[in-house]
Amino acid sequence: MKRILALHTGGTISMQADDQGRVTTNEQNPMVQIQAGSENLQLISVDLLNLPSPQMTPSHMLQLFQAIKDYAHQVDGVVITHGTDTLEETAYFLDTMSLPQIPVVITGAMRSSNELGSDGIYNFQAAIRVAADDQAQDKGVLVVMNDEIHAAKYVTKTHTTNVSTFQTPTHGPLGLIMKKEIVYFKQAQERVRFDLQQIEGQVAILPVYTGMDGELLKSIQTSQLDGLIIEAFGAGNVPPLVADQLANLVQAGLPIALVSRCFNGIAEPVYAYPGGGQDLANKGIAFIKELNAPKARLKLLIALNAGLQGEELKEYLEG
Ligand code: ASP
Repeated sequence: MKRILALHTGGTISMQADDQGRVTTNEQNPMVQIQAGSENLQLISVDLLNLPSPQMTPSHMLQLFQAIKDYAHQVDGVVITHGTDTLEETAYFLDTMSLPQIPVVITGAMRSSNELGSDGIYNFQAAIRVAADDQAQDKGVLVVMNDEIHAAKYVTKTHTTNVSTFQTPTHGPLGLIMKKEIVYFKQAQERVRFDLQQIEGQVAILPVYTGMDGELLKSIQTSQLDGLIIEAFGAGNVPPLVADQLANLVQAGLPIALVSRCFNGIAEPVYAYPGGGQDLANKGIAFIKELNAPKARLKLLIALNAGLQGEELKEYLEG
């Protein structure tokens, strides 16, 4: 009989709506009482946190990493329940840590536990099926929602309320959960993994916009920030005055990387005009591939906490 660890962290999956439709956290997390959905599985449920996921921090993510390591020798797989707003960030964070070699699956719900058509228990039991399945080995952290299995690196919340909100824009899902079978189409990629003991520091995200000048960037004190992610246009371009200020910040020692604001495709230094990608690369700005801004921010934060600097940092960020 396989043993699955459920680590509950809160989110809509653990919440309830009142008669006016206002959704709030329960004092007791109801997910702790939910069974595995199969007699062949043993479930160990841990009420780790009961937070709306906008309150999740990198320290909570590290706490989850530690909890997985603590229980790993007793279980065959792990399911985490989590609020959907920041689920992809926690999934990416854990995917970047040196986790034990057991499946780790994250799920949530778009409708709270007492709403009509609530998807919480369904997603939870689907996630348990995935975590108990031998095929889930070596696929990295998996996100299971609405009968789909997504890789932590690429998945993103695309809709405010729809149950099919989690999508993988450029690549599509890794697999599908059917009534009886689980089918995978793809493998997860190799990745560098860190064994962090602590996480601290501030990495901010700044989106660029048309007509943006360098004034906002001038107000950034490099002593208050450890790194900056720029959400750039298209293939990786910014307005010219922004490029000049970014160059000043890089000169002052602030690590800066960019991603595209396009939800599909990969940023790369193509354009040679002022503010174009070639110009930005020459100014020392790193190009992070295939991640959205929230995940790129975690990548830079993790790298800084792992002590990466200079060329080593750039190589990791751009790899
Ligand atoms: N606001 C909720 C949260 O992330 C949304 C959800 O769980 O779906 O905690």
